[in-house]
Amino acid sequence: MLEGNQNIKHYTISIFIPHAACPYECVFCNQKKISDQLKSPSLDEIKNIINNHLKTLPNTNANIEIGFFGGSFTAITLLEQEKYLKLAYEYLIDGKVKGIRISTRPDFINKRIISLLKKYGVSTVELGAQSLDEEVLANSGRGHKIEDVINASELIKKSGMKLGLQMMLGLPNDTLEKAKQTAFHIINLQADCTRIYPTLVIKDTVLEKLYYQNKYKPLSIEEAVEWTKEVYNIFLSSNTKVIRIGLHPSEGLTSGDSLIAGPFHPSFKELVLTKIWMDSFLELMIEHNSNKITIFVADDQLNYAIGYNSANKNEFLKKYSYVLFKTDNKLKGFNYYVNYN
Ligand code: SF4
Repeated sequence: MLEGNQNIKHYTISIFIPHAACPYECVFCNQKKISDQLKSPSLDEIKNIINNHLKTLPNTNANIEIGFFGGSFTAITLLEQEKYLKLAYEYLIDGKVKGIRISTRPDFINKRIISLLKKYGVSTVELGAQSLDEEVLANSGRGHKIEDVINASELIKKSGMKLGLQMMLGLPNDTLEKAKQTAFHIINLQADCTRIYPTLVIKDTVLEKLYYQNKYKPLSIEEAVEWTKEVYNIFLSSNTKVIRIGLHPSEGLTSGDSLIAGPFHPSFKELVLTKIWMDSFLELMIEHNSNKITIFVADDQLNYAIGYNSANKNEFLKKYSYVLFKTDNKLKGFNYYVNYN
């Protein structure tokens, strides 16, 4: 999974560790229902995954990490955690990867767990915070409170590891205002990175039942894009880096097999960044005495600036008969300049 697009590319080799006997019932999660089919990977399987990825990834100018995902890495037994971490640590000390990251629940972080993670060189711990509104957390069946997120975040920051706080948009009882407050709270907790996931209704979840009983209405794609844009803008002016927007278009989601309802789009990030660019271009949409415009943007922003399906370029074409987008490698982020000749 490619996570960055700066000069140094970031890659995470993802290893899915299921929490098979998870006692929780987060409304959006189907792990409980499908846990019979979920098998923890053996060490040999993990080695194969890592080695196969390493063969295809560049070994210079790349920041390659091993990521243990699946929701609740530190909720599995300490023995199991140690078994997986030891394996990843070998790649770290051999210099084949530069970091190890894990994702887990906020209420499964304590000093003992932190020591174990540190011992095996874990560099980033991502917590599924999801929301920092007590009512949203309770209605989403998370089984933890805001206090757990605060305590875990403080322990992780104190340990010197990087902190990631993932958030979801549109959970039961969520509002745009609550989502924005969650973003501010994540920044105040000094998270180094975040992921923003609009809530989807997945097959075999509590949310599916609520949806069919008309007790839960997912965000529309337009609302999800708008909310994500607002939240993304909050993070833009902070030190918390947004490393993912929207779920990865996995098989079940693109084919529709596991997706019941909700704002899924295979190019969701592009839709959001298209909107952010359009907002910053608004000042260029006023009448101008030239009918030509060339817009210079950063290399990695070119597609987003032009917009999904050329949406932004088409808006410009309503005002200018000649519209060109070019890159300037001195530009970064959402900075741009224009030329009217
Ligand atoms: S998201 Fe919730 S229900 Fe699913 S595995 Fe994690 S803790 Fe368990």
